[in-house]
Amino acid sequence: MRIVERITDLPHPAKQTIGFVPTMGAFHEGHLQLMRKAKSGNDLCIVSLFVNPTQFGKNEDFDKYPRDLNRDAALADSAGCDVLFAPTKEEVYPRSGSMIHVPEVTARWEGAARPGHFDGVATVVCKLFNIVRPTTSYFGLKDLQQCMVIQRMCEDLNLPYGVKLEPTVRERDGLAMSSRNVYLNPTHRTIAPKIYQLLLRSRSEIQQGKTPSLVLSAARSELSEAGFQVDYFDLVNLPLMDPANSAGVNQAIIAAAKLGTTRLIDNILL
Ligand code: AMP
Repeated sequence: MRIVERITDLPHPAKQTIGFVPTMGAFHEGHLQLMRKAKSGNDLCIVSLFVNPTQFGKNEDFDKYPRDLNRDAALADSAGCDVLFAPTKEEVYPRSGSMIHVPEVTARWEGAARPGHFDGVATVVCKLFNIVRPTTSYFGLKDLQQCMVIQRMCEDLNLPYGVKLEPTVRERDGLAMSSRNVYLNPTHRTIAPKIYQLLLRSRSEIQQGKTPSLVLSAARSELSEAGFQVDYFDLVNLPLMDPANSAGVNQAIIAAAKLGTTRLIDNILL
């Protein structure tokens, strides 16, 4: 595996297919699964590692986001990554420049909780796509709204890159893997799997014909009682991420809740 810092040092193989995994590092099994998929489906697996400043709000964790290039390089290598693209901020953003705004799908949920977040995500992913020129890129359904944003951006802007969405990888107790789970103290770590338990239960109740609004408000109350500050726990239609009042096709239950200062997000497809 090669570690590359400069855009000009990236491979541009005309005849090889490129599987691409954009990341912010602090790798866990969720990232490694995406890399294995990218490698098995393509000639070359390129992974970007860039903690993107434009997607963090002023009071968010940009400065303390976990960073360990040596550890990440070893893990990426073990998962089949051929090129780890780890650029500096100056390489990606030589000046403050054009930004992409994806409408509608960003209006609520993470978009409302983190103003500007998806503009930063869309902009950096578009730049990375144009830098790496992947045949196919791989994203985790853990960040469902992000997946919908990327797909919508590719459609709206006619970007000629394939996008594949992969299932959420979980700890044995159901907690969705996340680089931010390291922030959880031991007490919060034992409570954290409750989100996925309630997603599973809510899905099965809705599928059994119970009224979604009642199911969802009961789940919100249980999360609050367990010590979460619930941001949202709602049923949405895909791909627009608009709220759904009744059960239908192509929907998901999405959740965001804080334990102490750590904000967890998760979702389940119906
Ligand atoms: P991040 O480094 O957090 O920006 O994530 C990089 C990619 O890994 C994104 O496509 C995420 O959706 C994906 N990802 C993060 N956590 C998981 C997980 N638990 N399961 C599957 N994919 C994940």
